[in-house]
Amino acid sequence: MKQLIIATKNQGKMQDFKRLFEPHGIKVSSLLDLSEPIEDVEETGATFEENAALKAEVICERLQIPVIADDSGIEIDALNGEPGVYSARYAGTDKDDQANIEKVLDKMKTVPPSERTARFVCVLAVAQPGQATIFKRGECEGTIADQPTGTNGFGYDPIFYPVDSSLTMAEMTPEQKNEISHRRKALDQLKNWVNQL
Ligand code: IMP
Repeated sequence: MKQLIIATKNQGKMQDFKRLFEPHGIKVSSLLDLSEPIEDVEETGATFEENAALKAEVICERLQIPVIADDSGIEIDALNGEPGVYSARYAGTDKDDQANIEKVLDKMKTVPPSERTARFVCVLAVAQPGQATIFKRGECEGTIADQPTGTNGFGYDPIFYPVDSSLTMAEMTPEQKNEISHRRKALDQLKNWVNQL
């Protein structure tokens, strides 16, 4: 394998993938680098794995080169795993972080501290022509706060305390978050895979 596509338009994510693959002589391109544009793949799956695979496989089929796609979100135990794959659009409109946070806090008004456990999940799907798709999963365990704190990060960061942290993810620096995040753990697993290639 000499070249692969990362199914993202996010430059921050691309830097992480480049750092991982380029030392192995593998060229990585994002969807923004393609000469022919690829329309957004609808996330219709019921699991993170299904959604990540959908994105990776459609693009791999089209371009006939290996593609990595990710899907992520937050699972809250007291809400039976919600919002899960619906994390980005939990309150209706896509990516309205504030409305999503308000909906979670409202639903959890009466949930006591000991039952506010949750985890961020990131699943990477690697699709290769003629081969079964493989998956790498990273999780970051924590608890849901009763009010938002902090301005860094995005999504549910202001209401998520990682285990053993007195800071929400939105109070951490990007470097602190990057050391413990679900995305970092999924990428670390991919690192083991790259080393075996
Ligand atoms: P995706 O872009 O389909 O993977 O949707 C991910 C959604 O899950 C985001 O829009 C956020 O609401 C939430 N999410 C995923 N990762 C994080 C994170 O690191 N911090 C906060 N929220 C996250």
